[in-house]
Amino acid sequence: MIDDTPEASQDLSALLDDVRRHLLWQEEAAGRVLMIDAKAALELQRSAPSLRARFARTQGAADAAPPARPEAPLPRPPLASQAPEPRSIGPERPGPVAPAVAAGLPGHGVAAPARVPPTSRPAGALPGAANGERPTLDEIRRELGDCQRCKLCSTRKNLVFGSGNPRAELVFVGEGPGEHEDLQGVPFVGAAGDLLTKMIGAMGYRRDDVYICNVVKCRPPGNRNPEPEEVAACEPFLRAQLVAIQPKVVVALGKFAAQTLLRDSTPITRLRGNWRTYEGIQLMPTFHPAYLLRSPAEKRKAWEDLQAVMKVLGKQPGSRA
Ligand code: SF4
Repeated sequence: MIDDTPEASQDLSALLDDVRRHLLWQEEAAGRVLMIDAKAALELQRSAPSLRARFARTQGAADAAPPARPEAPLPRPPLASQAPEPRSIGPERPGPVAPAVAAGLPGHGVAAPARVPPTSRPAGALPGAANGERPTLDEIRRELGDCQRCKLCSTRKNLVFGSGNPRAELVFVGEGPGEHEDLQGVPFVGAAGDLLTKMIGAMGYRRDDVYICNVVKCRPPGNRNPEPEEVAACEPFLRAQLVAIQPKVVVALGKFAAQTLLRDSTPITRLRGNWRTYEGIQLMPTFHPAYLLRSPAEKRKAWEDLQAVMKVLGKQPGSRA
């Protein structure tokens, strides 16, 4: 029902007048501010209880209605300096602030606080997590660029960065590219690569399911061992790759990979088959496929090591070669 008493008409008229003045004020401000005029707001508040009471009375419920409470003042929008920051559209990076990273990527070694990504592992402590960000493999590859940080650059044909699933749960780390890898720019593509591919298949994975990379990204001439300064120059990129991928398990293939990642000079014959931890990631050292080609009798031990990895990852044997 409509209350058409003179009092109601008066209140309604006052309310409309207030609204009109408020709209005029907004128009004068030309949309520069979105703010309710304080005076108009107060008058609106004053009008509101009496209007409500009149409508209630019209409906015969005025006596039963609780007394109208004074309305709370209308909130004013915050000043620009007080306004909350707009939410980032990009991925949020929550988490506690981790200690600064001492040894970051070359060119990225900013000793700034690093935010720990939402993971149970302390990835913020890894090189490559400087500035609190989990780098992508593309970013790391771009940072490497046409790398000349060690003398291996002068003899390489191709820099062999790594290949496979950038979100792999399992990463294989070898020593360095050989002749075929150097020619093709892809890790583990020679005879040792064929054997590694078979080992991966036997574990129930396809090669594309896992990620494969090396400690050094350029071929040491004549397949000699990488020298300490070459390992030191290239290793931060390997560490950054592992930060980017965040695998559940790393398999270190051979002495160089195991000793470099673990900072442990124990011979591979004693390291292999024993679970270790690398920055919170489970790491299994085992023999390098090139060694297994020279020493086939050791394949059984390597397979035992890989079976232990499969058990942790819940994998069933695949097409074992
Ligand atoms: S081995 Fe590593 S550090 Fe040395 S030139 Fe190649 S990419 Fe750069």
